[in-house]
Amino acid sequence: MRVAVLALQGAFAEHEQMMQRLGVETFQVRQRKDWDQPKDGLIIPGGESTTQSKLLHDLGLFDVIKKDIENGLPVFGTCAGLILLSPMHLGTMDIDVCRNAYGRQLGSFYTEAPMKGVGEKVPMTFIRAPYINNVFGKDCEALATVDGHIVAARQGNQLVTAFHPELNDDLRIHKMFVGVMVKG
Ligand code: GLN
Repeated sequence: MRVAVLALQGAFAEHEQMMQRLGVETFQVRQRKDWDQPKDGLIIPGGESTTQSKLLHDLGLFDVIKKDIENGLPVFGTCAGLILLSPMHLGTMDIDVCRNAYGRQLGSFYTEAPMKGVGEKVPMTFIRAPYINNVFGKDCEALATVDGHIVAARQGNQLVTAFHPELNDDLRIHKMFVGVMVKG
């Protein structure tokens, strides 16, 4: 199994390490030609969603990635990656997102909460994170909430978290994504 990691900007190296620990091969997507390599899924990391989106357009990656996700390619988006999959950018996922939702004062924090399909006490590191106001469409399911706000969701081949699971030593969410890639 082989996963593409979008490596234009942000926290991509940590995702690669998590996947490698699970025995999954990774490669970085930095330019259009990288995208043509065989792959079982894509990880869109945290970082800055506006910058990542602009780079995707400039590099000619935006439309090919959108088309492949719409055709069922498994994708895992964390934080800025969640924003990129929302109607604000790629628009492949039926989620209504509030960006920088926790404000400047409470920009970054850590908590633990249950996540459906993952388990109890899942470590959640939030860094100037968004949250999901609402999931719409019957296929999109909220998987975790913190303080009444949705912070993880799944819609078929698409999995998102508002927090950064790659920054904690807990492989369960990455393992869940491997499950999405295996089952298709
Ligand atoms: N605040 C960032 C954005 O809006 C996301 C932060 C993150 O990915 N850690 O893109």
